[in-house]
Amino acid sequence: MKCYNRAMAQSKKIVIIGSGSAAYTAAIYAARANMDPLVFGGVSMGGQLMITSEIENFPGFPEPIAGPELMERMQKQVERLGVKIINEYVAKVDLKNGSPFFVETTEGTAASAQALIIATGANAKWLGIESEKRMMGHGVSACATCDGFFFKNKEVVGVGGGDTAMEEATFLTKFATKVVVVHRRDSLRASKIMADRAKNNPKISFVWDSVIDEVLGGDHVEGVKLKNIKTNAVTEIKTGGLFMAIGHQPTTGFLGSQLKLDENGYIVADDRTRTSMPGVFAAGDVMDHRYRQAITAAGNGCKAALEAERWLADQGTH
Ligand code: NAP
Repeated sequence: MKCYNRAMAQSKKIVIIGSGSAAYTAAIYAARANMDPLVFGGVSMGGQLMITSEIENFPGFPEPIAGPELMERMQKQVERLGVKIINEYVAKVDLKNGSPFFVETTEGTAASAQALIIATGANAKWLGIESEKRMMGHGVSACATCDGFFFKNKEVVGVGGGDTAMEEATFLTKFATKVVVVHRRDSLRASKIMADRAKNNPKISFVWDSVIDEVLGGDHVEGVKLKNIKTNAVTEIKTGGLFMAIGHQPTTGFLGSQLKLDENGYIVADDRTRTSMPGVFAAGDVMDHRYRQAITAAGNGCKAALEAERWLADQGTH
């Protein structure tokens, strides 16, 4: 049913925004607690796992499973429990006056929610060049923890100068024979301890003042073309993989300033997933820039649903 204003909004005990592993896990727990949740899953459903080729670190799958397949299974599990998923993006929420909260999509579908779980995730930032897009999942990755294992005994390139880039480069040395970190400046943004750890690792080398001009290869990454931004000199290096670590962007724009966010735009939530607004909970990458794993997001989604249930019970509404 389409609702175009607040008076017509469907009234729900709990609304979940998102369709990654945090949102789906929250939906599973909320459904099994008889809270009849409604999920606004967005148009491109499934979150970050939709761009992950093979997953080997999600328990319960002895053989690797493709990211999209894992998400499809989660979605089916949610639907089997009778949860309605609306494939529209949430454009705005109204949290100002406390519970019930008001949610409206870009299509005008609206709902009011006594408790709200926000699990809208974060997107890895990409360079935005055509060859990077073409090679995504074919040697171009934004998650060393997810994909590093597939680069055993290969040489790889990492991009970025922050903590993530240092952490991922260090992690990749467990598999790769050599990791070349390409950074656009001549000094790192990373904390000293993380930078020193990477600089002291004999398998890691740095290319300064340089950007990726093109990703080379056919079916799989075979190399990268680098441009030195001070001299404009172009060089090529061979590599089996390209790991982007140039930051993430949490999907919190639709919140405006209604919830407390940290300086990078992530929702500030405590270890019980409670946000600055009572009755609003946050789960997954939208509140966690540290772990960013499907399994930690799922764990957070579980916590958020349990906390929402308890909160509603405390309000006398569940
Ligand atoms: P970040 O600190 O924003 O660093 C992003 C890096 O990518 C910067 O070096 C930036 O270069 C570079 N970059 C950005 N856009 C680029 C582009 N278009 N082309 C080339 N390079 C580009 O992001 P992050 O490393 O993901 O860290 C995010 C937050 O999480 C930080 O607060 C960080 O401390 C934290 N974190 C902590 C840990 C830990 O403590 N274990 C681990 C990971 C992350 P410039 O330096 O030139 O801007």
